[in-house]
Amino acid sequence: CGIVGYIGDQNTQEVLIDGLKKLEYRGYDSAGIAVFTDSGLQIAKAKGRLANLEAKLDGAPLLGHAGIGHTRWATHGKPSDENSHPHMDESQKFSVVHNGIIENYLELKEELISEGHTFISETDTEIISHLIAREYKGDIVKAVQKAITFMRGAFALGVLTEHEPNKLVAVRQASPLVIGVGEGENFIGSDIPAILKYTRNVFILNDGEMAVLTSDAVELMTIEGQFISREMIHVEWDA
Ligand code: GLU
Repeated sequence: CGIVGYIGDQNTQEVLIDGLKKLEYRGYDSAGIAVFTDSGLQIAKAKGRLANLEAKLDGAPLLGHAGIGHTRWATHGKPSDENSHPHMDESQKFSVVHNGIIENYLELKEELISEGHTFISETDTEIISHLIAREYKGDIVKAVQKAITFMRGAFALGVLTEHEPNKLVAVRQASPLVIGVGEGENFIGSDIPAILKYTRNVFILNDGEMAVLTSDAVELMTIEGQFISREMIHVEWDA
C-alpha cells in the first residue's frame, strides 16, 4: 500500500524504514525491503507491523547503496512472509515492489509457468518480476517497458536489478508515485511525506510515466520511452 525507494550514499535501510513509517497511515498487513549489499540483492520481509521487519533487520542489517521498500495491503494472496514484497524472479536478480492490482495476472502466470517459470507466492505482483526477467536483454528500462505492455490494471512499481546496480526504475500507472531529487542521491515514494525528511525537491509522475534514477540523475519518460521535461516542485510545507 506504500512504496519507497532510494539510491545514494546514505544508510539505505534507514531511509527506507523512515519512508515506510510515514506511509503507515495508509494501512498495511506486512512490510519488506530489498537492498543492494556487497553480496548482491538482499531481501528482508515480515508479516505484520513494521516493528516486525525492524526486529528482523536489527539482527541482520542490510547495508548498501540502493533499495526499495513496501508496505502491503494484500489483494491477491493472504498476508504472509512469502506474499510480502519485494518479489523476485527465480534468478534472484530482479526485485519489484508494487502497489495496485494486475488484473490479468492469472493468465500471465499460466503463460510464465508454461515457459518454465516457478512461483513461490500467491500474489499478482510476483508475475511482474518474472516478466521483467523474461524480457531482459541487457537494458532494464527496455525490459520494464516491454513487461508493462503485457500487464492490465493499476500499478506503481519500484524495480531493481543486480545486472544494473546503479539504476532504480519507477513506473506509475493509476497508483500514485513521486520522485524526490537530492544531491548525489534520489528517491521514490508513494507520496511526498515519505521522502520529505530527505528532500523538498520533487517531480510528480502522471499515469503512463516512468523514471530512471541513478544517484546523480533522474530521467523522466513515458512508458513508451519518450523523454519528458517537467518542472521540479519545491515543497514548502511540512509533513
Ligand atoms: N496486489 C498486490 C498484493 O496483493 C499489491 C497490494 C498493495 O498495493 O499493497 O500483493
